[in-house]
Amino acid sequence: MRSHLLNDTTAERYRRSVTEGIERVAAKLAATDGPFTGVTVDALAPAIDAIDLDKPLHDSGAVLDELEEVYLRDAVYFHHPRYLAHLNCPVVIPALVGEAVLSAVNSSLDTWDQSAGGTLIERRLVDWTAARIGLGGNADGVFTSGGSQSNLQALLLAREEAKTDSAAKLRVFASEVSHFSVQKSAKLLGLGPDAVVTIPVDHDKRMQTVALARELARCAEDGLVPMAVVATAGTTDFGSIDPLPEIAELCEQYGTWLHVDAAYGCGLLASVRYRDRIDGIERADSVTVDYHKSFFQPVSSSAVLVRDATTLRHATYHAEYLNPRRTVEERIPNQVDKSLQTTRRFDALKLWMTLRTMGADGIGQLFDEVCDLAVEGWRLLAADPRYHVVVRPTLSTLVFRYIPAAVTDPAEIDRANLYARKALFASGDAVVAGTKVQGRHYLKFTLLNPETTAEDIAVVLDLIAGHAEQYLGESLDRAS
Ligand SMILES: *Cc1c(COP(=O)(O)O)cnc(C)c1O
Repeated sequence: MRSHLLNDTTAERYRRSVTEGIERVAAKLAATDGPFTGVTVDALAPAIDAIDLDKPLHDSGAVLDELEEVYLRDAVYFHHPRYLAHLNCPVVIPALVGEAVLSAVNSSLDTWDQSAGGTLIERRLVDWTAARIGLGGNADGVFTSGGSQSNLQALLLAREEAKTDSAAKLRVFASEVSHFSVQKSAKLLGLGPDAVVTIPVDHDKRMQTVALARELARCAEDGLVPMAVVATAGTTDFGSIDPLPEIAELCEQYGTWLHVDAAYGCGLLASVRYRDRIDGIERADSVTVDYHKSFFQPVSSSAVLVRDATTLRHATYHAEYLNPRRTVEERIPNQVDKSLQTTRRFDALKLWMTLRTMGADGIGQLFDEVCDLAVEGWRLLAADPRYHVVVRPTLSTLVFRYIPAAVTDPAEIDRANLYARKALFASGDAVVAGTKVQGRHYLKFTLLNPETTAEDIAVVLDLIAGHAEQYLGESLDRAS
């Protein structure tokens, strides 16, 4: 069994085994002709349940053959140009080289004595990101597992910085289309059930600053404490960007922590042409970035950045076995002092390899392309009488609804749209997402693949309309 351990004597086996695995994936990618096979839970679960985990196959080829059946064959493939659903990107190859290296070396980024250069590389990337944001000379941050954890940590810091001992008095302001992790974080942080004050959005799905000003004033009048405003730079559903400069003004006026959730919009930090769309982000106290959304990085790769490095002390605890107090005096860089996690992957290496191979402009060009594609898609939808489209995209998301001319019952239109999404998924021809707008069911394209064309979008719109028409036809038959 020792031959399975990676060490000096098994290096050749490691090379062969990993290559074998990579070859399967490469063959799969070359052969996939759709984003999904349409497999159902009921069809797949028995195959996975039938595998006896206490009876190993002892042969890597046989294990990969089995994996083909239970996973590779039916996985959802984000690299396919007709995967248009969630905030998942196709990944860049330099990052995959990084992924292979980081998992084999297996550094843990909690302490210097488990990572050495890894810690310094992560720090450089934190500094690089903070500089792109414009957070100033005292900025810092740390890599996290994702935007949800970044938001949680940012709100933890904001809570600790808030001037009150009463958690019940704390209020967090976020728009009605902010990410649900804001609510979840408030709960985890022990804030009251009314802690998150929801601010309405305008027609373009951006936070209404007049409403924010009103709520901040009310908060002060009621003797409550405005702990943080969460501005979203790229909402998950619409890609809309809250008016950051106006929100920053209000935060300054009320002495409130400004957190900018740029989990999605952070791609603009590398943009060659559209960087100005997130102007104002430099005034944040903390920022969430998800490289695994708009920097074309494999999951996971995310960071939280702060304007004032000293605020990260709220996440610091000293353990004698790991990062004793004296290591601070000895100036040993232990990233665990800044993180909610302890053992932590060297995810930063993927971004490092990407920047060293392609450069920031390379990433930014890809992101600009998907933003341009979204505008093309919006034009198609706006000109198509079969569809209603919600907002002109700021990033790369389109939210729309099939609206048959002959049907007026909105509930029936809801059902037709829901049916179309499911039928499309079951066909495997394309994958699209869905959401609700003013209580009605809408469909959503999140465009993060520069290989997707306007032609792909047109084809998928025809497919959706076809499924919806089929549903409505059958529904008529049922009624008669
Ligand atoms: C995706 C997303 C998150 C959550 O990020 P994860 O990496 O999925 O945890 C937070 N905020 C916004 C705006 C997002 O789009």
